[in-house]
Amino acid sequence: MGKIYCSCGEMLSDNSEANKARIIADKDFEKMMEQIIAKPADAYWLAAPYFESFYQCYHCHNLIFVLPNATLEFKPVDPESSADLVAAYLRKTSD
Ligand SMILES: [Zn+2]
Repeated sequence: MGKIYCSCGEMLSDNSEANKARIIADKDFEKMMEQIIAKPADAYWLAAPYFESFYQCYHCHNLIFVLPNATLEFKPVDPESSADLVAAYLRKTSD
């Protein structure tokens, strides 16, 4: 995918994991977990198709979804309090 541009002009790199996260629909979560429990050795490959990647702009903190047919961008009501929304869970718990 390469480079992704936010509407503020910031360029995000698909190669940087720092501002990238994945989301799963709640209705898919149980189905995914049933498959993983049945075949735990294949957990990574079973889970991967359920997730959609998205990015958070470092500058304005908008959320950007790059879909096959469109790029969707969402602006937080309070950008500063949303700044680390996609920060890794492990980083959040180590503070
Ligand atoms: Zn931005």
